[in-house]
Amino acid sequence: MRNANFIFGAVVTYCTFGGTKLAAVVDIEKCTGCETCVDVCPASAISMEDGKAKVDADLCVDCETCVDECPSEAISME
Ligand code: SF4
Ligand code: SF4
Repeated sequence: MRNANFIFGAVVTYCTFGGTKLAAVVDIEKCTGCETCVDVCPASAISMEDGKAKVDADLCVDCETCVDECPSEAISME
């Protein structure tokens, strides 16, 4: 578990200081509120607000998992 935390921390550090940081952005017009992205995000960066997904850009580690898993193609990296 210590190793996992170290790797996660290294990824966060890389994404924060290693170059331009992208973050997931939800198109609320496309979001159906299925919560798939909430379940798959490894950084717990996504929450639901008024039935739509919302990303905390400060927590997002730019992994694109939510982009790949969203069934509505509602998430992009910006
Ligand atoms: S996976 Fe896509 S459709 Fe489902 S809640 Fe997240 S953004 Fe909305
Ligand atoms: S890109 Fe990764 S860390 Fe960022 S919100 Fe999506 S799943 Fe979470």
